[in-house]
Amino acid sequence: MRKLIPVFYFLMAIAIISCGSNPYAKTNRLHKKQAKAYSKQLQQFPTPENQNESALNYGDYWVGTTNFNLRKPNYVVIHHTAQDSVQQTLTTFTLPRTQVSSHYVIAKNGEIFHMLNDYYRAWHGGIGKWGNNTDLNSSSLGIEIDNNGEEEFTDLQIISLIELLEEIKEKHGIPAENFIGHSDIAPSRKVDPNINFPWKRLAEEGFGLWYDEAEVENLKLEAEFFKPNPLAINFNSRLHTRISFIDKLVFPEVIPADFNVENALKIIGFDTSNLAAAKSAFKLHFIQKDLDQPFNTCDLKVLYSLHKKYL
Ligand SMILES: [Zn+2]
Repeated sequence: MRKLIPVFYFLMAIAIISCGSNPYAKTNRLHKKQAKAYSKQLQQFPTPENQNESALNYGDYWVGTTNFNLRKPNYVVIHHTAQDSVQQTLTTFTLPRTQVSSHYVIAKNGEIFHMLNDYYRAWHGGIGKWGNNTDLNSSSLGIEIDNNGEEEFTDLQIISLIELLEEIKEKHGIPAENFIGHSDIAPSRKVDPNINFPWKRLAEEGFGLWYDEAEVENLKLEAEFFKPNPLAINFNSRLHTRISFIDKLVFPEVIPADFNVENALKIIGFDTSNLAAAKSAFKLHFIQKDLDQPFNTCDLKVLYSLHKKYL
């Protein structure tokens, strides 16, 4: 029996080591190998031989500047995973054939998995456009939140997300308006993060913009404000001129009749090549209800108030 005791401890030690070992050790080795290959590529200097092969009029010798650092991300794109568990997503992002990834994944219990250095380019945005930026993967960090696509986000996830965003914003100096969703940059393809995502709360914390709710309450459409008087058209037009002069002092703000929805969506950043899709994406982010309903007066007022913040 005594002889068996050391064997028992030995087996226990193996069990403890294997329990504590990283199940992703194998794919981590692949990750390291790829990172090394990119480092090597970046260290290569142009040689006279490969410059001579070019048709460009290069100088006689290569001069490397001494003043540079790494490019920084300037946007954050938030997603929901549309998968059943964080384990499923970690697997998806470590299988080369899927060709998808993100910098961070946030589990339902608030655990953050940092899967890629912020300075590398993850494959989370796909084809998309925000303003004139057509390669969001090159300029953004991708954050995936574990969520099946329809459920609520957990409090722990949102707490972790806000803490993570605070760190990222400070580290890379990302402006508040550049915290956006996948559906914002790919309106006709994507609907994440879903309708339950707390964009307003995030905006209050400094991540993304939100409209002025008090202003929206008081906004009037021009047609609502200047009700025509069929009995006194001439008098009414004179009154109209006078009201225009003093309305800023006395009356609520009026949305001009020529306010252009498409231009306002463009000013915010939406790709309006499919206007209906851009309107839906706007509703998903800023209205968060009645997504299947057409754009109404309330939506218009929110858009009017919001677009001014991006001017
Ligand atoms: Zn997405």
